[in-house]
Amino acid sequence: MLHRLTLDEKVSGLNGQFDQQSAGEILRHTLLSGEFGKVAVVSSFGAESVVLLDLVAAINPATPILFLDTEMLFTETLAYQKTVATHLGLTDVRVITPAREETFEQDNEGLLHLYFPDQCCALRKSIPLQQALKGFDAWITGRKRYQSGSRATLTPFENEAGRRIKVNPLAHWGSDEVKAHMAARDLPRHPLVARGYPSIGCAPCTTQVGFGEDPRAGRWRNQEKIECGIHFTATGAVRDSAA
Ligand code: SF4
Repeated sequence: MLHRLTLDEKVSGLNGQFDQQSAGEILRHTLLSGEFGKVAVVSSFGAESVVLLDLVAAINPATPILFLDTEMLFTETLAYQKTVATHLGLTDVRVITPAREETFEQDNEGLLHLYFPDQCCALRKSIPLQQALKGFDAWITGRKRYQSGSRATLTPFENEAGRRIKVNPLAHWGSDEVKAHMAARDLPRHPLVARGYPSIGCAPCTTQVGFGEDPRAGRWRNQEKIECGIHFTATGAVRDSAA
């Protein structure tokens, strides 16, 4: 009888196969092999998002792109989302928003982030994303090892809590490669980067970053919170963010 691979075995095999491969090769396999079933990209349309989106568009611009609009984003991000989609010819950007009724009940005044930021991120990010991902077998993120300590051991493929495979084709990319790709491809930049925001999330929880500071220092500044919690480990524990 044939042994059906567990998700862990499949992910382990993929990491062995693609550990030394380029982001483009990882993406081509993910999007074209048929091995992954239905695949979506999740993008914040933040400071570096355009790189992953550019690589995806070169393979299939009709790939579903899930954009989490928490309804607390900068207006610049909403405009940038449209600019990037038009520039790259993305034809299936799906805007995911928090559930109307739950938002009305839990955060009618939009102040939940001040008192219970984890609850706010669950309401506006984690729960809507998990709902949106129900129709997909795998998803692609733009996370990179250099971005923070919690991502230092990031692998190209992950088992997301036994639910589906998560693909991180840029895991091994450094900041210089990101900048070089943007320059070489003359990609549109998020307007807030030039104004001192190297990492961009929701407006109330993102501040400018000073010279010499960690690029993510402006996220949830002066709070213990460092991640939004939309990523899950194989054991189901929340540990990381997408943006
Ligand atoms: S980043 Fe801030 S505003 Fe956005 S969902 Fe999380 S706590 Fe709420």
